[in-house]
Amino acid sequence: MSVKNRIDKEVLLTVQKYDKKLNKTELTYFRNLLEEKSPQEMLDYLTEEYTIDHTYMIKAIEEIKQLIKKKDKIKTLEAIRDIIPNLLEINPIEDFKRSELDYAQRVLNKYTEDLADIKTQKDKTQFLTTKIRTYTRRVEQYIPYFHNGFVWSMQNLATYNSMLYNVNLTRTAWNQSYKDSILLENDKFIINTHPFACPHCLEHQGKIYTRQELEDIVGIAVEDGAKEILHPNCKCTLSIYWDKSQLTRQHRTTEADYRLDQKAKSLQRQINKRRTEKIAFQDIGNEEMADKRRKELTRMYAELRGIKGQMETIRKRFYKY
Ligand SMILES: [Zn+2]
Repeated sequence: MSVKNRIDKEVLLTVQKYDKKLNKTELTYFRNLLEEKSPQEMLDYLTEEYTIDHTYMIKAIEEIKQLIKKKDKIKTLEAIRDIIPNLLEINPIEDFKRSELDYAQRVLNKYTEDLADIKTQKDKTQFLTTKIRTYTRRVEQYIPYFHNGFVWSMQNLATYNSMLYNVNLTRTAWNQSYKDSILLENDKFIINTHPFACPHCLEHQGKIYTRQELEDIVGIAVEDGAKEILHPNCKCTLSIYWDKSQLTRQHRTTEADYRLDQKAKSLQRQINKRRTEKIAFQDIGNEEMADKRRKELTRMYAELRGIKGQMETIRKRFYKY
């Protein structure tokens, strides 16, 4: 498996894992609220659910380093690997743990507020219906994603951690290629092509750069150096350039293709969300809203099938070259 495929697979699994947790938490939130369970009971659930073992990440990082090392010569030079300074840092596991704690705290705070409110309500079904409809915006989407100095969108724990994980793995791959190139005294690089590349990186795909050119483009040794490629959440990987066999695939995807990929991912998350809401509405006895969600889901599944079909065609075209 290539480094790129490995990173893609890992990141996708992470977003799915967290997405599942978020949806399970939402259901528990409303089941507890319906029965007016104490904040302590909600806290017990959160403590158990968000004690996540992150050793999988360390393992993935190590495996990606191994995948990069293709030339035997590197092994004998391993000892001096750590002397090369100033590469972009890999984030520690603490970032993940902190984001999980922040989220659990937020859920608990909102739960405590809603619990105080529901006790004063005559029509509890109506009250809970409103709360289910606004839950995503009120409870989950609170992590700002900055772009060009502005808050571009609000993310939830699942998308935030998938970005964080992607950055960790992609930087591992970049750093390793960069270090190995110094040890192997080869200062030519290639930015690998991949289907559904983002608009920032399209123009660099499949091109060969010298070390100096690469540093000019990405500002690799600069702390806030993501200028063009290796922007936040970048999916590109870097290899040392050895010979023409690496040039077999020129990039064949476009910005429109990238948007399609983004659309599919967002639609999948919306489907998971609607499914959760459908169950929550059933739980509180609002069949009308549950039915509304059911109909939306049917329409969304059809749309997603269409997009996936288009993506398959694009992928096939890409791998033909
Ligand atoms: Zn990119």
